[in-house]
Amino acid sequence: MPAANNNQYLRRIPSVDEILNTTDVQALLLQFSHTMIVKAIHLLLTEKRNRMLSMKEPCQFEKELSLKTALPQIKAKIREIEAPSLKHVINASGIVVHTNLGRAPLAEDAVKAICGVAGCYSNLEFDLKEGKRGSRYDHVESLLRELSGSEAGLAVNNNAAAVLLCLSTLAQGKQVIISRGELVEIGGSFRIPDIMKQSGATLVEVGSTNRTHLRDYREAINEQTAIILKVHMSNYRIVGFSSEVGLSELNKLGSEHNIPVMFDMGSGNLIDSSFLGLTGDLTVQDTVKSGTDIITFSGDKLLGGPQAGIILGRDMFIQKIKRNPLARVVRIDKLTLAALESTLKNYAHNPEHIDNIPVIRMLAASESLLKKRAKKIVKAVKEQTPFQNVSLTRDTSQVGGGAYPLHDLPTWVVSIDPAPLALNEFENLLRTGTLPIVARISKERILLDMRTILPDEVSLIPGCIVEVAKSAKAQLQSH
Ligand SMILES: *Cc1c(COP(=O)(O)O)cnc(C)c1O
Repeated sequence: MPAANNNQYLRRIPSVDEILNTTDVQALLLQFSHTMIVKAIHLLLTEKRNRMLSMKEPCQFEKELSLKTALPQIKAKIREIEAPSLKHVINASGIVVHTNLGRAPLAEDAVKAICGVAGCYSNLEFDLKEGKRGSRYDHVESLLRELSGSEAGLAVNNNAAAVLLCLSTLAQGKQVIISRGELVEIGGSFRIPDIMKQSGATLVEVGSTNRTHLRDYREAINEQTAIILKVHMSNYRIVGFSSEVGLSELNKLGSEHNIPVMFDMGSGNLIDSSFLGLTGDLTVQDTVKSGTDIITFSGDKLLGGPQAGIILGRDMFIQKIKRNPLARVVRIDKLTLAALESTLKNYAHNPEHIDNIPVIRMLAASESLLKKRAKKIVKAVKEQTPFQNVSLTRDTSQVGGGAYPLHDLPTWVVSIDPAPLALNEFENLLRTGTLPIVARISKERILLDMRTILPDEVSLIPGCIVEVAKSAKAQLQSH
């Protein structure tokens, strides 16, 4: 059906000035700026006009907008404009390091550290003892050395930048040897071959997709070889008839030929996570101990800190990396640095309370704690609404961030059966509510995983579900 001709109604839409000059709207000037109010009216009018043009039937214009009914709509528009675009979301997905939801929530101390330097000047690049220019790298280098055992280290914008910077510094115009099985793409279009191209290094692939042997690396070495690179396979595994060359063998080969070995660890773990049942990956300390020359990993994956890329390694390489002009391009900012210093201090000075770091706390959360949370939420929802289709059940969560992709963590979830409303409609309401909740859909249910919910959020969730149940009911009645 073609759009109805609503032109005659369009002409009756009041002008911005007409609306602005009503006494109701004038009173708004006590609360909001003229600019804000005009912007809100503009947006509202544009929205109405577009809506009327797209209507299939002649609209009842007065229902849409009149001088009398404009005020609450303008107020709502102002609230919409004022609301931040980047905002608090409850992660009920059960993926602990969820890249789309901002990865690691910071520890309380790290947040305080950011606030401590955000609104004032700081000694970011100023040596207070000497009264002269200092380096931003100094704020975390000794911590990185102490924690990892490496000779030197620095932090940059993120791990992708760290890899690019290392390759550009040490392998530009030369060759980098890497196993075919490790030419991975990590979400958000980080592809090793692309990074390699950007760095000006030439990729030398060795082995086959499923099997690479030490002799494949050895045979590829020539006078153009600058680095032997190993990349953590992240969220990808080759199983079955496969083999990869271990780091220690590569390190031995590298030192025999005087070629540095670099390992992009991806997540990078400063504690042995076998106590969480997570095994198979080396810690950063073990990787340093194995003699790997350059190591990179993310600050906001298993480390549980802010977005950052950590580079560790031999002093001569780190010095060279710091002097590369590209280091200036990918440098870490002061707010991140404050949070990173605080996070690293937790590892260095308070390892007994390492679960102050939310990512670690979530990974370590006991089933009984998670069950208790689910029970509390289910009980509160049932008390507050006639909506009774909520229950608790066992399920599994994921580490995320490319770490331990095959490992399921046993968890408890709040399970919602929204029938007669469709699953995706209920999920959509949860996601677009006042406090958005990102849930997952599985086996014809909406599941809220208790593992990735922050302690303070537990008491907020029943209210969100009740709000959604109400709008779901309204939605069904209007159908
Ligand atoms: C996540 C990851 C990266 C990218 O790290 P960012 O901090 O997101 O830039 C690079 N390499 C590997 C192996 C990864 O897992």
